[in-house]
Amino acid sequence: MGTLFALLFGGGTAYYLFQKRADNWDTLNNDINSYVDNLFQTILRTSTNLQPLTFSTCAQASRTLTSSAAFGLNIRALALVTNGIAWCSSANGEIKVNLAKVAPGMDLSQKVNADILPGTPMMPNRPTIVLWNRHPDDPTRGIFISLNVNLNPYLLYTSRQRDVYGIAIAIHGKILSTFSPRVMSARALDLPPIRRSQLHGLPVEIRLYGTPWSREDIQLAILFGLFGGVIFGLLTTWSLNSRSRTGLDIQTGIRREQFFAVYQPVINARDQKMAGLEVLMRWKHPVNGLISPDVFISYAEDQQLVASLTRHLFSLVINDIEALQSVLPPSGKLGINLAPSHLHSPDFKQDILNFARALPPHSFNIVFEITERTMLNEAQALPLFEWLHEQGFEIAIDDFGTGHSALIYLQRFKMDYLKIDRGFISAIGTDTVTTPVLDAVLILARRLNMNTVAEGVETAQQAQWLIDQGVNYLQGYYYSRPLTAEALVEWSRQYAKGVTL
Ligand code: C2E
Ligand code: CA
Ligand code: CA
Repeated sequence: MGTLFALLFGGGTAYYLFQKRADNWDTLNNDINSYVDNLFQTILRTSTNLQPLTFSTCAQASRTLTSSAAFGLNIRALALVTNGIAWCSSANGEIKVNLAKVAPGMDLSQKVNADILPGTPMMPNRPTIVLWNRHPDDPTRGIFISLNVNLNPYLLYTSRQRDVYGIAIAIHGKILSTFSPRVMSARALDLPPIRRSQLHGLPVEIRLYGTPWSREDIQLAILFGLFGGVIFGLLTTWSLNSRSRTGLDIQTGIRREQFFAVYQPVINARDQKMAGLEVLMRWKHPVNGLISPDVFISYAEDQQLVASLTRHLFSLVINDIEALQSVLPPSGKLGINLAPSHLHSPDFKQDILNFARALPPHSFNIVFEITERTMLNEAQALPLFEWLHEQGFEIAIDDFGTGHSALIYLQRFKMDYLKIDRGFISAIGTDTVTTPVLDAVLILARRLNMNTVAEGVETAQQAQWLIDQGVNYLQGYYYSRPLTAEALVEWSRQYAKGVTL
């Protein structure tokens, strides 16, 4: 979760910063475009007022021309043009310059046009942008304007954008940029601009250059990623921890009576009558719903709460005792699962004695179901089994065949029942040819003179097969799911009416 959120936060921040930067670039691009556009349009408008001078002589025009150039913002020089020849300049007075030679890119037939020149006669090394403003009525005449261009102020203007490092104006394949004091060809500057925009009505393109990623942004994204990752990692750890504190909940669950017992009938294979029951625990959690015993028993084991849980189960059974007596035959069996940690706890014997005392006399036989897993400590387990027998309880090995240690016990201690794990039973019918392990288990049980209980019998076919093999008891959904005491009474009534197989 930490890593996931680190990526999410880091990525999110990076994306946000990238978007913000892109927005800034768009704004900047628009700002510069309208600034330059405004500048050029103002100059063109000023020069339009001078168009009548193209019909006068240079001597007449020169004063107006000079003062217009002097007062016009960013104007270096103005020249009057007829038939492609500039004949009067604000700077030099009478001249004769062929514009086709000076500004070859400029199309004088257009109403307005622009070009970039490497210099003017007066300032040969200072590149300039030139504009053309044709006479509105006489296409042979017009005004030629050279501008004072310095892009650095633009760059200053853009410096509020820390990642924009260059700006260029491109006209007819020539470029004036902040990268060089000279005019470059567009091909020489093969740097991809981050934004470009066209001026309205003029063949002028403005380009912005910048870094898509700044170091600060990357650092910020990583910082946010790490921060988010750590926070969410800790939160997840915390939430997992608090969830694994279900141990506390188990105690609350006991106190608030969220646990209840269900009973699953065990059928005698010989006459198909109910011979006993196995009690199984259920937890109806107010938030998490019905929790499986597989889950909460192992929780309880971790929290050392199994003993309390089993004691609670004993009390639940005592509560149901009347119903149980009404359905169980005389000397019927009641199977109770024992957890390993309870068996080895110091309270074990006392708990069992208390339970036995609470049961009505001669009610039914208790069979403690112990998994192979339970019998971890052989030296301790054997005396406990003996003790249970002395107290009149029976013992069943639960889930037989799934563990590893049971055979050694079978040699030393006589168990009363062997419950064959449902994994073997479910194989019946699917693996039609042979069931070698099950066969071996059944032979072993017979040789050891133990009663067998088949768990997880789900179909008539399985039941019949097991009966044919001489299994003594059957338990499974085919007969009944685990039921509450109440439902069990009803089931028992129905079952007694028509035993079918
Ligand atoms: P288990 O002792 O092997 O109990 C048999 C499990 O098989 C039960 O699951 C039962 O509902 C299920 N079952 C019965 N017939 C069929 C069938 O035909 N098909 C299938 N698929 N399943 C069937 P449940 O009640 O979920 O209990 C799971 C395990 O939790 C039990 O296995 C037992 O080891 C443990 N457990 C349940 N209640 C207690 C308890 O009160 N104390 C202790 N220590 N363990 C318990
Ligand atoms: Ca069991
Ligand atoms: Ca079992």
